[in-house]
Amino acid sequence: MAQLSDDCFAHGGRLLETSEALAMLAERLDRVTEDESVSVNQALGRILSEPVIGALSIPPVDNSAVDGYAVYFEDLEKSSETALPVVGRSSAGHPFDGPFDHGKAARGTAVRIFTGAVMPPGPDTVMMQEDCRRDGDQVIIQPGIKQGANRRLAGEDVVAGTQILSPGQRLRPQDLGHAAAVGRRELRVSKPLKVALFSTGDELAEPGGAAGAGQIYDSNRFTLTGLLNGLGCHVSDLGILRDRADPMTDALAAAAEGHDLVLTSGGVSVGEEDHVKTAVERLGSLYAWRLAIKPGRPVALGQIGRTPFMGLPGNPVAVMVTFLTIVRPAILRMMGASPRPPLYFKVRTDFDHRKKKSRREWLRVRLATAADGQITAHKFPRDGAGILSSLVEADGLVELPEDVVELKAGSLVDFLPFSEVIS
Ligand code: AMP
Ligand code: MG
Repeated sequence: MAQLSDDCFAHGGRLLETSEALAMLAERLDRVTEDESVSVNQALGRILSEPVIGALSIPPVDNSAVDGYAVYFEDLEKSSETALPVVGRSSAGHPFDGPFDHGKAARGTAVRIFTGAVMPPGPDTVMMQEDCRRDGDQVIIQPGIKQGANRRLAGEDVVAGTQILSPGQRLRPQDLGHAAAVGRRELRVSKPLKVALFSTGDELAEPGGAAGAGQIYDSNRFTLTGLLNGLGCHVSDLGILRDRADPMTDALAAAAEGHDLVLTSGGVSVGEEDHVKTAVERLGSLYAWRLAIKPGRPVALGQIGRTPFMGLPGNPVAVMVTFLTIVRPAILRMMGASPRPPLYFKVRTDFDHRKKKSRREWLRVRLATAADGQITAHKFPRDGAGILSSLVEADGLVELPEDVVELKAGSLVDFLPFSEVIS
């Protein structure tokens, strides 16, 4: 397995803007997964690791875009109807088989043709059947068609030899269709990243079990499993680690074996109950990346031996925001993807808001269409970093850049739909 260099997360702890943190990760993270061949049907959401070249042109030869009659444009009257004898037929999979005149359909004739059928040699234009009338063996054609109409040219979709899909692309259904259209049954893709996932905290109870006084059920592991599965990772759910450095050290060391990434939530701030830091430092290195974002306290990045480690904050909303902004692009890189930046949309706020300067802030919002047709963002009133219901209500996040300090209702802001970053 490929490995990252030692200490690729080394960082002096100064406050980082998101763009800086992403640039640093992009520079330091390499692909760690190997390739495998999978059938095109199994490749949805996977990251392509080869260029896909169209060996043949699509379509391979000229064919008809409609049901109708293939004719020589030059045989048509320009301003009155033309009557032509119908001498043959070409249907999809069954090309015209004569009569031929010097290897072509004869001048002054028409060939009955259907959508997708190969153009008979000679005729250059197809009349739609709706614009024709049959009279016995003849077809009566209305004037006014353009030369070459309704004819699909060989190679108009793909020219033989061109690259249709690129390495690093995440495969969508239409990409799979396109690979199949050039004749591929299998594709080389990146193997899934193997992620070991833990929650940490003495207050956490396992859902389904009993919760003691003051305990809460673990939710982060379930959010994170969903996010990781959406990226095509293989998740090992390793349960809850209690806030004691020794057993945590043993569990993290064991998890680093056989996984490409160890991911935890909770236990990485600066409180004395934050034992994750101690445990990872014993096993390798750990750096608190102080991101200038809200919500999201420091994200801990480090290595256990040579295996990358990422420790997210404990608060459920901070987990989501730090995963989407930092962990997601890092994971995609480790699987060899060249992630395109997510698409944002401009929406109008229906709320006032104040924020600190020099910090990027993410607001959970729900969208609605206002009476004037504009899309309006509505902020969830309770917006603490622990309020999971606010994420459930939201359609996505409004991103407020570092320099903004105040928003008035009616401001245009950048909206990131969850559908752009959660699959
Ligand atoms: P910590 O960073 O460990 O101090 O946790 C910060 C907050 O997040 C505390 O209120 C924790 O109870 C909460 N928290 C930590 N881990 C989880 C989890 N897995 N599920 C739900 N809440 C959590
Ligand atoms: Mg904790």
